[in-house]
Amino acid sequence: MTSLQLSAQEEAVERLLDAAARGDLVQVSSLLALGPSLLNRAGHSGWTALMLAARNGHYDVAQALLSLGCDKFSVNNSSQTAYDIATFWGHRHLADLLGRTGEGPPGSALLRPPGSALLHPPPENYFGRETLDRLSAKRTDRVWLEVRRSDPDAVYLLFSNLSPMVSAPLEGGGGGAAAETKLCRFGYEAVKDLLQKPATVFVFLGVERRKTPSSSSAHVADGVREPPAWFAINTDEDPAELLTRCGGKSCCFPKTPNRDLLRFSEEEAGVVAQARSVLAWHSRYSFCPTCGGGTAPEEAGHKRSCLDAGCRSRKGVHNTCYPRVGTQPEPWREVEEESGVQVGPVRYVSCQPWPMPSNLMIGCLAVAVSTAIKVDDDEIEEARWFPRQQVIDSFRGTRAAFTVPPRQTIAHQLIRHWVAGNSNL
Ligand SMILES: [Zn+2]
Repeated sequence: MTSLQLSAQEEAVERLLDAAARGDLVQVSSLLALGPSLLNRAGHSGWTALMLAARNGHYDVAQALLSLGCDKFSVNNSSQTAYDIATFWGHRHLADLLGRTGEGPPGSALLRPPGSALLHPPPENYFGRETLDRLSAKRTDRVWLEVRRSDPDAVYLLFSNLSPMVSAPLEGGGGGAAAETKLCRFGYEAVKDLLQKPATVFVFLGVERRKTPSSSSAHVADGVREPPAWFAINTDEDPAELLTRCGGKSCCFPKTPNRDLLRFSEEEAGVVAQARSVLAWHSRYSFCPTCGGGTAPEEAGHKRSCLDAGCRSRKGVHNTCYPRVGTQPEPWREVEEESGVQVGPVRYVSCQPWPMPSNLMIGCLAVAVSTAIKVDDDEIEEARWFPRQQVIDSFRGTRAAFTVPPRQTIAHQLIRHWVAGNSNL
């Protein structure tokens, strides 16, 4: 390449950056149509076209650059991303655009609660989606439950040893490593014999959320038709026999939850987390904490009561309910005990149900006030400091200094959040 060609390239970069800074969408588009390789080129102080658009609040230019695959994690010489710049200059709509994760399967917003897919989506973690409306007030309504249980539209999920029956993607069937696992769904007739068995644990999960009220034209006539109710049952029947109920499809009960349960769609992962956590609670808390006697499930699987009518646990407010979320995280103490690092301000980011078997992960960002590391080997394997650029490179998979956990984990989402949203350091 001659020096003349080089300077022509440099000139094109300057023109692109200038157009982006002015918000000239037409010129930005035509320059990139002629030279797509200019997209991520930086000029003075490492500023890219996206950063300049973010600096001056040009939403349409930023949107066009992102749609062309522009790298939004690039940093300038001051280690600022375009998001940092938009945030600093108060362009909130642009910060929202740049802060979006851009992940999730197509159409995954379909089952979100109304209004949640707007400009400020709350952080959502895998296993965290509330696919069903839990209708907790209906758990004590025996008549309503009885009707919904035998409703032909009711959906039953079958668990054996806390593992849900799934239709597994066929090995080598073209689905590849990313093939999705799907829950096997049964109707009442297919499982009603199991419901009669004393060892079966039965849990009401909730009803399907209505997608959009205006789309219910199919049942305008009866108008009052309720959405299907979902139930989970855990049984100790022979797993091989249970699999035959699913009509010869390639179904199984996954053996390694830590790996296999990460392959559902976001919607099904939310249901699995809810069902498995409650079923695991039943399997581990089958005796009365007051007298040590046996207990039986009540309230559609969300409470257990002592079988001894004279037990103190049955008087007053004593009983054993499935634990609700209600915890006081202590990140200050945890971080110092496990890594030796003292932290100051802590900010909660999001939480994630983790049904292995029934935990709640809480993700926080904290500012360290000391740097010396002393690892507690019983708790964690290793702790290290990484410069911001190394974190960004590892996240993008280029010159990875460490392995970023898979996207289903809250650790991944915390790193993503920090990379995309960290203000200028
Ligand atoms: Zn008791």
